[in-house]
Amino acid sequence: MPELKDRAYWLEKAKTLRLEGRAFIDGVYVDAHSRATFCTYSPIDALPLAPVALCASADVDLAVAAARRSFEVGVWSGLAPRERKSVLLKWAALLEAHTDELALLESLDSGKPIADTTGGDLPGTIYCLRWFAELIDKVHGEVPATDPRFFGTVTHQPLGVVAAVVPWNYPLLMAAWKFSPALAAGNSVILKPSEKTPLSALRIAGLAVEAGIPAGVFNVVTGDGATGRDLSLHGDVDCIAFTGSGKVGREIAKNAAASNLKRVWLELGGKSANIVMADCPDIAQAARSAAAAIFANMGQVCSAGSRLLVQRSIADQLIQELLDATDDYQPGHPLDPDSVTGAIIDGVQFERVCEYIEIGKQEAQLLKGGNSLSHIESGAYLEPTIFLAKDSSARIANEEIFGPVLVVIPFDTLEEAIAIANQTEYGLAAAVWSSDLKTIHTATRQLKAGTVWVNCYDELVDMNFPFGGFKESGNGRDNSAHALSKYTELKSTIMRCG
Ligand code: NAP
Ligand code: MG
Repeated sequence: MPELKDRAYWLEKAKTLRLEGRAFIDGVYVDAHSRATFCTYSPIDALPLAPVALCASADVDLAVAAARRSFEVGVWSGLAPRERKSVLLKWAALLEAHTDELALLESLDSGKPIADTTGGDLPGTIYCLRWFAELIDKVHGEVPATDPRFFGTVTHQPLGVVAAVVPWNYPLLMAAWKFSPALAAGNSVILKPSEKTPLSALRIAGLAVEAGIPAGVFNVVTGDGATGRDLSLHGDVDCIAFTGSGKVGREIAKNAAASNLKRVWLELGGKSANIVMADCPDIAQAARSAAAAIFANMGQVCSAGSRLLVQRSIADQLIQELLDATDDYQPGHPLDPDSVTGAIIDGVQFERVCEYIEIGKQEAQLLKGGNSLSHIESGAYLEPTIFLAKDSSARIANEEIFGPVLVVIPFDTLEEAIAIANQTEYGLAAAVWSSDLKTIHTATRQLKAGTVWVNCYDELVDMNFPFGGFKESGNGRDNSAHALSKYTELKSTIMRCG
Protein backbone atom coordinates (compact mmCIF):
# COMPACT_ATOMS: atom_id res chain seq x y z
CA MET A 1 0.00 0.00 0.00
CA PRO A 2 1.37 3.46 -0.83
CA GLU A 3 2.09 5.61 2.19
CA LEU A 4 -0.83 7.85 3.14
CA LYS A 5 0.58 11.38 2.94
CA ASP A 6 -1.79 13.06 5.35
CA ARG A 7 -1.00 15.93 7.70
CA ALA A 8 0.40 13.48 10.28
CA TYR A 9 2.86 12.12 7.69
CA TRP A 10 4.17 15.61 6.86
CA LEU A 11 4.33 16.69 10.52
CA GLU A 12 6.27 13.54 11.39
CA LYS A 13 8.59 14.02 8.44
CA ALA A 14 9.16 17.64 9.45
CA LYS A 15 10.56 16.42 12.79
CA THR A 16 13.24 14.35 11.04
CA LEU A 17 14.34 17.01 8.52
CA ARG A 18 17.88 18.29 8.83
CA LEU A 19 17.75 22.01 8.14
CA GLU A 20 20.99 23.24 6.56
CA GLY A 21 21.49 26.93 7.25
CA ARG A 22 25.10 27.43 6.16
CA ALA A 23 25.92 29.26 2.95
CA PHE A 24 27.24 27.24 0.03
CA ILE A 25 30.46 28.63 -1.46
CA ASP A 26 32.98 26.92 -3.72
CA GLY A 27 31.38 23.49 -3.38
CA VAL A 28 31.05 23.36 0.41
CA TYR A 29 28.70 24.51 3.16
CA VAL A 30 30.31 27.27 5.21
CA ASP A 31 29.41 29.62 8.04
CA ALA A 32 29.55 33.33 7.35
CA HIS A 33 33.08 34.66 7.85
CA SER A 34 31.79 36.68 10.83
CA ARG A 35 29.85 33.60 12.08
CA ALA A 36 26.78 35.85 12.21
CA THR A 37 23.40 34.22 11.61
CA PHE A 38 19.81 35.27 11.23
CA CYS A 39 16.70 33.19 11.79
CA THR A 40 14.28 31.92 9.19
CA TYR A 41 10.74 31.45 10.50
CA SER A 42 7.91 29.23 9.44
CA PRO A 43 4.84 31.24 8.42
CA ILE A 44 2.76 28.22 9.49
CA ASP A 45 3.15 29.10 13.18
CA ALA A 46 5.54 32.10 13.10
CA LEU A 47 8.08 30.04 15.07
CA PRO A 48 11.83 29.94 14.33
CA LEU A 49 12.92 27.16 11.98
CA ALA A 50 16.69 27.42 11.74
CA PRO A 51 19.65 29.79 12.06
CA VAL A 52 21.05 30.79 8.67
CA ALA A 53 24.41 32.30 7.71
CA LEU A 54 24.26 36.09 7.43
CA CYS A 55 26.63 36.68 4.55
CA ALA A 56 28.36 40.05 4.38
CA SER A 57 30.70 41.54 1.78
CA ALA A 58 33.56 39.21 2.76
CA ASP A 59 31.38 36.17 1.99
CA VAL A 60 30.05 37.69 -1.22
CA ASP A 61 33.67 38.35 -2.27
CA LEU A 62 34.54 34.70 -1.62
CA ALA A 63 31.53 33.46 -3.63
CA VAL A 64 32.30 35.82 -6.52
CA ALA A 65 35.97 34.76 -6.49
CA ALA A 66 34.98 31.07 -6.53
CA ALA A 67 32.53 31.66 -9.36
CA ARG A 68 35.09 33.67 -11.33
CA ARG A 69 37.81 31.04 -10.82
CA SER A 70 35.54 28.19 -11.90
CA PHE A 71 34.42 30.17 -14.94
CA GLU A 72 37.90 31.12 -16.10
CA VAL A 73 39.42 27.63 -15.71
CA GLY A 74 36.55 26.26 -17.77
CA VAL A 75 35.47 23.34 -15.54
CA TRP A 76 31.90 24.18 -16.58
CA SER A 77 32.04 26.96 -19.19
CA GLY A 78 34.55 24.89 -21.16
CA LEU A 79 32.48 21.69 -21.25
CA ALA A 80 30.74 20.53 -24.40
CA PRO A 81 27.08 21.58 -24.13
CA ARG A 82 25.95 17.98 -24.01
CA GLU A 83 28.23 17.31 -21.04
CA ARG A 84 26.63 20.20 -19.16
CA LYS A 85 23.26 18.84 -20.19
CA SER A 86 24.04 15.44 -18.75
CA VAL A 87 25.04 16.91 -15.35
CA LEU A 88 21.99 19.19 -15.22
CA LEU A 89 19.73 16.24 -16.01
CA LYS A 90 21.33 14.29 -13.14
CA TRP A 91 20.65 17.24 -10.85
CA ALA A 92 17.02 17.34 -12.02
CA ALA A 93 16.70 13.60 -11.30
CA LEU A 94 18.07 14.17 -7.78
CA LEU A 95 15.58 16.97 -7.18
CA GLU A 96 12.83 14.63 -8.31
CA ALA A 97 14.04 11.86 -6.01
CA HIS A 98 13.95 14.39 -3.12
CA THR A 99 10.58 15.91 -4.03
CA ASP A 100 8.94 15.20 -0.67
CA GLU A 101 11.84 16.59 1.33
CA LEU A 102 12.20 19.72 -0.82
CA ALA A 103 8.45 20.35 -1.00
CA LEU A 104 8.21 20.03 2.77
CA LEU A 105 11.14 22.44 3.27
CA GLU A 106 9.42 24.87 0.92
CA SER A 107 6.07 24.61 2.71
CA LEU A 108 7.67 24.96 6.15
CA ASP A 109 9.74 27.98 5.15
CA SER A 110 7.10 29.79 3.04
CA GLY A 111 3.70 28.70 4.41
CA LYS A 112 2.58 27.45 0.99
CA PRO A 113 0.20 24.47 0.99
CA ILE A 114 1.94 21.12 0.63
CA ALA A 115 -0.36 20.27 -2.31
CA ASP A 116 1.11 23.27 -4.15
CA THR A 117 4.75 22.54 -3.37
CA THR A 118 4.50 18.83 -4.23
CA GLY A 119 2.21 19.42 -7.22
CA GLY A 120 3.45 22.77 -8.55
CA ASP A 121 6.69 24.24 -7.22
CA LEU A 122 8.79 21.09 -7.34
CA PRO A 123 7.55 19.69 -10.66
CA GLY A 124 7.84 23.21 -12.14
CA THR A 125 11.42 23.58 -10.91
CA ILE A 126 12.42 20.17 -12.28
CA TYR A 127 10.68 20.82 -15.60
CA CYS A 128 12.50 24.15 -15.98
CA LEU A 129 15.90 22.63 -15.23
CA ARG A 130 15.30 19.75 -17.64
CA TRP A 131 13.98 22.05 -20.35
CA PHE A 132 17.11 24.25 -20.40
CA ALA A 133 19.37 21.21 -20.06
CA GLU A 134 17.69 19.70 -23.11
CA LEU A 135 17.87 22.95 -25.04
CA ILE A 136 21.53 23.72 -24.64
CA ASP A 137 22.96 21.23 -27.14
CA LYS A 138 20.50 22.38 -29.80
CA VAL A 139 21.48 26.04 -29.94
CA HIS A 140 23.10 27.30 -33.13
CA GLY A 141 25.00 30.38 -34.12
CA GLU A 142 24.76 32.14 -37.47
CA VAL A 143 26.86 32.32 -40.62
CA PRO A 144 25.80 35.50 -42.40
CA ALA A 145 26.24 35.78 -46.18
CA THR A 146 29.37 37.91 -46.70
CA ASP A 147 31.82 39.20 -49.19
CA PRO A 148 33.36 35.91 -50.49
CA ARG A 149 36.85 36.92 -49.31
CA PHE A 150 35.59 36.74 -45.75
CA PHE A 151 33.93 34.17 -43.55
CA GLY A 152 32.12 35.21 -40.44
CA THR A 153 30.18 33.68 -37.56
CA VAL A 154 27.85 35.00 -34.89
CA THR A 155 28.14 32.89 -31.75
CA HIS A 156 26.81 32.96 -28.20
CA GLN A 157 29.25 32.96 -25.31
CA PRO A 158 28.45 32.80 -21.61
CA LEU A 159 28.68 36.06 -19.69
CA GLY A 160 30.78 34.82 -16.80
CA VAL A 161 29.53 35.33 -13.23
CA VAL A 162 25.75 35.63 -12.91
CA ALA A 163 24.06 36.67 -9.66
CA ALA A 164 20.41 35.67 -9.19
CA VAL A 165 18.44 37.52 -6.48
CA VAL A 166 15.00 36.02 -5.93
CA PRO A 167 11.88 36.49 -3.76
CA TRP A 168 10.00 34.31 -1.28
CA ASN A 169 6.71 33.61 -3.08
CA TYR A 170 8.02 30.74 -5.23
CA PRO A 171 11.50 30.35 -3.74
CA LEU A 172 12.80 27.39 -5.75
CA LEU A 173 10.84 28.03 -8.92
CA MET A 174 11.92 31.66 -9.27
CA ALA A 175 15.51 30.58 -8.58
CA ALA A 176 15.26 27.84 -11.23
CA TRP A 177 13.95 30.32 -13.81
CA LYS A 178 17.29 32.13 -13.42
CA PHE A 179 19.89 29.46 -12.68
CA SER A 180 18.67 26.91 -15.25
CA PRO A 181 19.32 29.02 -18.37
CA ALA A 182 22.36 30.70 -16.79
CA LEU A 183 24.05 27.39 -15.93
CA ALA A 184 22.99 25.70 -19.17
CA ALA A 185 24.66 28.53 -21.10
CA GLY A 186 27.93 27.88 -19.22
CA ASN A 187 27.94 30.65 -16.63
CA SER A 188 28.88 30.30 -12.96
CA VAL A 189 26.06 31.35 -10.65
CA ILE A 190 25.62 32.93 -7.23
CA LEU A 191 22.08 32.58 -5.93
CA LYS A 192 20.75 34.87 -3.21
CA PRO A 193 17.41 33.60 -1.88
CA SER A 194 15.12 35.78 0.21
CA GLU A 195 15.97 35.85 3.93
CA LYS A 196 12.40 34.62 4.47
CA THR A 197 12.89 31.40 2.49
CA PRO A 198 16.54 30.36 2.19
CA LEU A 199 16.29 26.65 3.07
CA SER A 200 15.31 25.00 -0.22
CA ALA A 201 18.03 26.84 -2.16
CA LEU A 202 20.63 25.67 0.35
CA ARG A 203 19.43 22.07 0.15
CA ILE A 204 19.59 21.87 -3.65
CA ALA A 205 23.18 23.14 -3.57
CA GLY A 206 24.26 19.90 -1.89
CA LEU A 207 22.41 17.95 -4.57
CA ALA A 208 24.21 19.99 -7.25
CA VAL A 209 27.52 18.63 -5.99
CA GLU A 210 26.12 15.08 -5.99
CA ALA A 211 25.06 15.60 -9.60
CA GLY A 212 28.60 16.63 -10.56
CA ILE A 213 28.38 20.41 -10.81
CA PRO A 214 31.98 21.49 -10.14
CA ALA A 215 32.94 23.57 -7.10
CA GLY A 216 32.39 27.30 -7.58
CA VAL A 217 29.87 26.91 -10.42
CA PHE A 218 26.77 27.09 -8.21
CA ASN A 219 26.96 29.08 -4.98
CA VAL A 220 24.27 30.17 -2.53
CA VAL A 221 24.84 33.24 -0.36
CA THR A 222 22.23 33.77 2.32
CA GLY A 223 21.45 37.01 4.08
CA ASP A 224 19.17 40.00 3.85
CA GLY A 225 18.81 42.85 1.38
CA ALA A 226 22.39 43.99 2.09
CA THR A 227 23.72 40.70 0.69
CA GLY A 228 21.79 41.33 -2.53
CA ARG A 229 23.08 44.90 -2.59
CA ASP A 230 26.69 43.68 -2.29
CA LEU A 231 26.11 41.50 -5.36
CA SER A 232 24.57 44.38 -7.31
CA LEU A 233 27.56 46.61 -6.52
CA HIS A 234 30.25 43.98 -7.08
CA GLY A 235 32.78 44.84 -9.77
CA ASP A 236 33.35 41.22 -10.78
CA VAL A 237 29.71 40.15 -11.26
CA ASP A 238 28.84 40.27 -14.96
CA CYS A 239 25.07 40.07 -14.69
CA ILE A 240 22.38 40.33 -12.04
CA ALA A 241 19.03 38.69 -12.66
CA PHE A 242 16.38 39.82 -10.21
CA THR A 243 12.79 38.97 -9.36
CA GLY A 244 11.13 41.12 -6.74
CA SER A 245 9.73 44.55 -6.08
CA GLY A 246 10.09 47.61 -8.29
CA LYS A 247 11.72 49.53 -5.45
CA VAL A 248 14.58 47.04 -5.11
CA GLY A 249 14.75 46.56 -8.89
CA ARG A 250 15.42 50.28 -9.31
CA GLU A 251 18.13 50.19 -6.67
CA ILE A 252 19.80 47.23 -8.37
CA ALA A 253 19.79 49.03 -11.72
CA LYS A 254 21.34 52.10 -10.07
CA ASN A 255 23.99 50.01 -8.33
CA ALA A 256 24.83 48.19 -11.55
CA ALA A 257 25.29 51.53 -13.28
CA ALA A 258 27.37 52.88 -10.40
CA SER A 259 29.71 49.86 -10.41
CA ASN A 260 30.65 47.95 -13.57
CA LEU A 261 27.53 48.31 -15.75
CA LYS A 262 26.76 44.64 -15.20
CA ARG A 263 23.80 43.33 -17.22
CA VAL A 264 20.54 43.82 -15.28
CA TRP A 265 17.40 41.75 -15.80
CA LEU A 266 14.33 42.63 -13.79
CA GLU A 267 11.09 40.73 -13.22
CA LEU A 268 8.99 43.02 -11.03
CA GLY A 269 5.44 43.48 -9.84
CA GLY A 270 2.03 43.51 -11.47
CA LYS A 271 -1.59 44.61 -11.13
CA SER A 272 -3.02 42.41 -13.82
CA ALA A 273 -6.47 42.97 -15.32
CA ASN A 274 -8.83 40.09 -16.00
CA ILE A 275 -11.51 41.45 -18.38
CA VAL A 276 -14.85 39.66 -18.67
CA MET A 277 -17.03 40.82 -21.56
CA ALA A 278 -20.81 40.26 -21.59
CA ASP A 279 -20.37 37.68 -24.38
CA CYS A 280 -18.03 35.58 -22.22
CA PRO A 281 -18.53 31.94 -23.30
CA ASP A 282 -19.01 30.60 -19.75
CA ILE A 283 -19.60 33.01 -16.87
CA ALA A 284 -19.37 30.33 -14.18
CA GLN A 285 -15.99 29.23 -15.47
CA ALA A 286 -14.79 32.82 -15.74
CA ALA A 287 -15.78 33.28 -12.08
CA ARG A 288 -13.97 30.12 -10.93
CA SER A 289 -10.90 31.14 -12.92
CA ALA A 290 -11.03 34.70 -11.52
CA ALA A 291 -11.02 33.31 -7.97
CA ALA A 292 -8.04 31.05 -8.70
CA ALA A 293 -6.25 33.92 -10.45
CA ILE A 294 -6.15 36.01 -7.29
CA PHE A 295 -6.46 33.62 -4.36
CA ALA A 296 -3.98 30.88 -5.34
CA ASN A 297 -0.76 31.17 -3.30
CA MET A 298 -2.64 33.60 -1.04
CA GLY A 299 -2.48 36.24 -3.77
CA GLN A 300 1.30 36.39 -3.43
CA VAL A 301 1.79 36.03 -7.17
CA CYS A 302 3.30 38.69 -9.41
CA SER A 303 0.92 37.83 -12.27
CA ALA A 304 -2.16 37.49 -10.01
CA GLY A 305 -5.41 38.64 -11.61
CA SER A 306 -5.88 41.28 -8.92
CA ARG A 307 -8.30 43.44 -10.94
CA LEU A 308 -11.48 41.86 -12.27
CA LEU A 309 -13.00 44.11 -14.92
CA VAL A 310 -16.56 43.08 -15.67
CA GLN A 311 -18.96 44.46 -18.26
CA ARG A 312 -21.81 46.06 -16.35
CA SER A 313 -24.67 43.99 -17.82
CA ILE A 314 -23.27 40.73 -16.37
CA ALA A 315 -21.71 42.17 -13.22
CA ASP A 316 -24.36 40.89 -10.79
CA GLN A 317 -24.28 37.36 -12.17
CA LEU A 318 -20.49 37.15 -12.33
CA ILE A 319 -20.09 38.54 -8.81
CA GLN A 320 -22.55 35.98 -7.42
CA GLU A 321 -20.64 33.12 -9.07
CA LEU A 322 -17.36 34.62 -7.87
CA LEU A 323 -18.52 34.82 -4.25
CA ASP A 324 -19.46 31.12 -4.40
CA ALA A 325 -16.16 30.11 -6.06
CA THR A 326 -14.18 32.01 -3.42
CA ASP A 327 -15.29 29.61 -0.69
CA ASP A 328 -12.81 27.09 -2.13
CA TYR A 329 -9.91 29.34 -1.13
CA GLN A 330 -10.40 29.53 2.63
CA PRO A 331 -6.94 28.97 4.15
CA GLY A 332 -6.10 25.73 5.88
CA HIS A 333 -3.08 24.26 7.65
CA PRO A 334 -0.31 24.27 5.02
CA LEU A 335 0.69 20.68 5.81
CA ASP A 336 -2.85 19.39 5.35
CA PRO A 337 -2.93 17.93 1.80
CA ASP A 338 -6.49 19.21 1.33
CA SER A 339 -5.54 22.85 1.96
CA VAL A 340 -5.78 24.96 -1.17
CA THR A 341 -4.27 28.06 0.45
CA GLY A 342 -2.03 28.54 3.47
CA ALA A 343 -0.31 31.27 5.46
CA ILE A 344 0.78 34.79 4.52
CA ILE A 345 4.58 34.90 4.42
CA ASP A 346 5.08 36.96 7.59
CA GLY A 347 3.67 39.60 9.92
CA VAL A 348 5.10 42.47 7.88
CA GLN A 349 3.36 41.37 4.70
CA PHE A 350 0.21 40.57 6.69
CA GLU A 351 0.13 44.13 8.10
CA ARG A 352 0.66 45.56 4.63
CA VAL A 353 -2.26 43.59 3.21
CA CYS A 354 -4.46 44.49 6.20
CA GLU A 355 -3.68 48.20 5.66
CA TYR A 356 -4.87 47.85 2.08
CA ILE A 357 -8.04 46.15 3.31
CA GLU A 358 -8.68 49.15 5.58
CA ILE A 359 -8.03 51.53 2.67
CA GLY A 360 -10.40 49.43 0.56
CA LYS A 361 -13.15 49.76 3.15
CA GLN A 362 -12.95 53.56 2.76
CA GLU A 363 -12.94 53.70 -1.01
CA ALA A 364 -14.94 50.66 -2.15
CA GLN A 365 -17.64 48.20 -1.04
CA LEU A 366 -16.43 45.12 0.83
CA LEU A 367 -18.23 42.11 -0.69
CA LYS A 368 -16.49 39.28 1.13
CA GLY A 369 -13.75 38.43 3.63
CA GLY A 370 -11.38 40.99 5.06
CA ASN A 371 -10.73 39.17 8.33
CA SER A 372 -7.71 37.41 9.73
CA LEU A 373 -8.14 33.84 10.95
CA SER A 374 -6.71 32.61 14.21
CA HIS A 375 -8.06 29.05 14.40
CA ILE A 376 -5.46 27.39 12.15
CA GLU A 377 -2.11 28.04 13.84
CA SER A 378 -0.28 31.03 15.28
CA GLY A 379 0.86 32.22 11.81
CA ALA A 380 -0.88 34.91 9.74
CA TYR A 381 -3.93 33.65 7.85
CA LEU A 382 -6.30 35.88 5.91
CA GLU A 383 -9.73 35.33 4.41
CA PRO A 384 -9.96 35.76 0.65
CA THR A 385 -11.26 39.31 0.25
CA ILE A 386 -13.30 40.96 -2.51
CA PHE A 387 -14.10 44.63 -3.04
CA LEU A 388 -16.42 46.24 -5.55
CA ALA A 389 -15.09 49.61 -6.71
CA LYS A 390 -17.22 52.33 -8.31
CA ASP A 391 -14.51 53.13 -10.83
CA SER A 392 -10.81 52.55 -11.44
CA SER A 393 -9.47 55.48 -9.41
CA ALA A 394 -9.27 53.67 -6.05
CA ARG A 395 -5.79 52.98 -4.64
CA ILE A 396 -6.67 49.29 -4.26
CA ALA A 397 -7.39 49.29 -8.01
CA ASN A 398 -3.92 50.57 -8.90
CA GLU A 399 -1.35 49.52 -6.28
CA GLU A 400 0.06 46.01 -5.98
CA ILE A 401 -1.21 44.49 -2.73
CA PHE A 402 0.43 41.05 -3.07
CA GLY A 403 -2.19 39.34 -0.94
CA PRO A 404 -5.61 37.67 -1.27
CA VAL A 405 -7.48 40.86 -2.19
CA LEU A 406 -9.48 41.24 -5.40
CA VAL A 407 -11.04 44.44 -6.66
CA VAL A 408 -13.96 44.19 -9.07
CA ILE A 409 -14.40 47.16 -11.43
CA PRO A 410 -17.48 47.40 -13.68
CA PHE A 411 -17.10 48.97 -17.15
CA ASP A 412 -19.33 49.67 -20.15
CA THR A 413 -17.27 49.35 -23.34
CA LEU A 414 -14.23 47.38 -24.51
CA GLU A 415 -12.32 50.63 -25.09
CA GLU A 416 -12.96 51.61 -21.49
CA ALA A 417 -11.84 48.18 -20.23
CA ILE A 418 -8.59 48.34 -22.20
CA ALA A 419 -7.91 51.87 -20.97
CA ILE A 420 -8.43 50.77 -17.35
CA ALA A 421 -6.30 47.66 -17.86
CA ASN A 422 -3.44 49.78 -19.26
CA GLN A 423 -3.66 52.61 -16.74
CA THR A 424 -1.27 51.25 -14.09
CA GLU A 425 2.52 51.45 -14.20
CA TYR A 426 2.61 47.67 -14.55
CA GLY A 427 2.32 45.40 -17.59
CA LEU A 428 2.90 41.82 -16.54
CA ALA A 429 -0.24 39.91 -17.51
CA ALA A 430 -3.87 40.34 -18.58
CA ALA A 431 -6.81 38.26 -19.74
CA VAL A 432 -9.94 38.73 -21.80
CA TRP A 433 -13.08 36.59 -21.85
CA SER A 434 -15.28 36.92 -24.96
CA SER A 435 -16.85 34.88 -27.77
CA ASP A 436 -16.17 37.53 -30.37
CA LEU A 437 -13.06 37.25 -32.50
CA LYS A 438 -12.86 40.98 -33.17
CA THR A 439 -13.05 41.76 -29.43
CA ILE A 440 -10.38 39.17 -28.67
CA HIS A 441 -8.11 40.39 -31.43
CA THR A 442 -8.45 44.04 -30.39
CA ALA A 443 -7.84 43.26 -26.73
CA THR A 444 -4.85 40.96 -27.24
CA ARG A 445 -3.19 43.57 -29.46
CA GLN A 446 -3.90 46.57 -27.26
CA LEU A 447 -3.30 45.19 -23.78
CA LYS A 448 0.15 46.27 -22.61
CA ALA A 449 1.20 43.04 -20.94
CA GLY A 450 3.87 40.38 -21.41
CA THR A 451 1.27 37.58 -21.26
CA VAL A 452 -2.36 37.79 -22.39
CA TRP A 453 -4.75 34.90 -21.76
CA VAL A 454 -7.98 34.44 -23.71
CA ASN A 455 -10.92 32.66 -22.05
CA CYS A 456 -8.62 31.38 -19.31
CA TYR A 457 -6.18 32.72 -16.71
CA ASP A 458 -2.79 31.41 -15.61
CA GLU A 459 -3.09 28.42 -17.95
CA LEU A 460 -0.52 26.50 -19.96
CA VAL A 461 2.55 26.51 -17.81
CA ASP A 462 4.90 25.74 -20.66
CA MET A 463 8.56 26.69 -20.86
CA ASN A 464 8.20 27.62 -24.53
CA PHE A 465 6.44 30.84 -23.57
CA PRO A 466 8.50 33.81 -22.36
CA PHE A 467 7.38 35.33 -19.06
CA GLY A 468 7.97 38.94 -18.09
CA GLY A 469 6.62 42.42 -18.25
CA PHE A 470 5.97 45.54 -20.25
CA LYS A 471 6.52 48.93 -18.62
CA GLU A 472 7.53 48.90 -14.94
CA SER A 473 6.96 45.15 -14.60
CA GLY A 474 10.52 44.74 -15.77
CA ASN A 475 12.70 43.99 -18.74
CA GLY A 476 13.86 40.80 -20.44
CA ARG A 477 12.02 37.52 -20.15
CA ASP A 478 12.32 34.36 -18.09
CA ASN A 479 11.62 30.98 -19.69
CA SER A 480 11.75 30.00 -23.38
CA ALA A 481 14.79 30.05 -25.62
CA HIS A 482 14.69 33.86 -25.40
CA ALA A 483 15.85 33.64 -21.79
CA LEU A 484 19.17 32.16 -22.89
CA SER A 485 20.08 35.42 -24.58
CA LYS A 486 20.02 37.11 -21.17
CA TYR A 487 22.93 34.97 -20.08
CA THR A 488 25.08 35.10 -23.21
CA GLU A 489 27.01 37.68 -25.18
CA LEU A 490 26.87 37.67 -28.95
CA LYS A 491 30.24 37.51 -30.63
CA SER A 492 30.89 38.39 -34.26
CA THR A 493 34.00 36.64 -35.62
CA ILE A 494 35.23 37.82 -39.01
CA MET A 495 37.99 36.02 -40.89
CA ARG A 496 39.76 37.17 -44.04
CA CYS A 497 40.07 34.05 -46.16
CA GLY A 498 41.12 35.31 -49.54
P1 NAP B 1 11.88 42.33 -2.63
O1 NAP B 1 11.75 42.92 -1.30
O2 NAP B 1 12.18 43.22 -3.78
O3 NAP B 1 13.01 41.20 -2.50
C1 NAP B 1 13.42 40.39 -3.55
C2 NAP B 1 14.84 39.93 -3.31
O4 NAP B 1 15.71 41.05 -3.30
C3 NAP B 1 15.03 39.23 -1.97
O5 NAP B 1 16.00 38.22 -2.11
C4 NAP B 1 15.57 40.36 -1.11
O6 NAP B 1 16.30 39.90 -0.01
C5 NAP B 1 16.48 41.06 -2.09
N1 NAP B 1 16.79 42.44 -1.75
C6 NAP B 1 16.17 43.25 -0.83
N2 NAP B 1 16.76 44.48 -0.83
C7 NAP B 1 17.75 44.43 -1.75
C8 NAP B 1 18.70 45.38 -2.23
N3 NAP B 1 18.73 46.62 -1.75
N4 NAP B 1 19.56 45.01 -3.20
C9 NAP B 1 19.52 43.76 -3.72
N5 NAP B 1 18.66 42.81 -3.30
C10 NAP B 1 17.78 43.15 -2.33
O7 NAP B 1 10.59 41.55 -3.09
P2 NAP B 1 9.76 40.49 -2.26
O8 NAP B 1 8.97 41.23 -1.24
O9 NAP B 1 10.66 39.41 -1.80
O10 NAP B 1 8.80 39.90 -3.41
C11 NAP B 1 7.62 40.51 -3.74
C12 NAP B 1 7.74 41.29 -5.05
O11 NAP B 1 8.28 40.48 -6.09
C13 NAP B 1 6.39 41.72 -5.57
O12 NAP B 1 6.44 43.07 -5.99
C14 NAP B 1 6.13 40.80 -6.74
O13 NAP B 1 5.26 41.28 -7.69
C15 NAP B 1 7.50 40.57 -7.26
N6 NAP B 1 7.57 39.30 -8.01
C16 NAP B 1 7.70 39.37 -9.36
C17 NAP B 1 7.77 38.22 -10.14
C18 NAP B 1 7.93 38.28 -11.63
O14 NAP B 1 8.28 37.28 -12.22
N7 NAP B 1 7.72 39.42 -12.26
C19 NAP B 1 7.71 36.97 -9.50
C20 NAP B 1 7.56 36.93 -8.12
C21 NAP B 1 7.52 38.11 -7.38
P3 NAP B 1 15.56 39.74 1.42
O15 NAP B 1 14.24 39.08 1.15
O16 NAP B 1 16.50 38.88 2.14
O17 NAP B 1 15.40 41.12 1.97
MG1 MG C 1 10.86 31.32 6.38
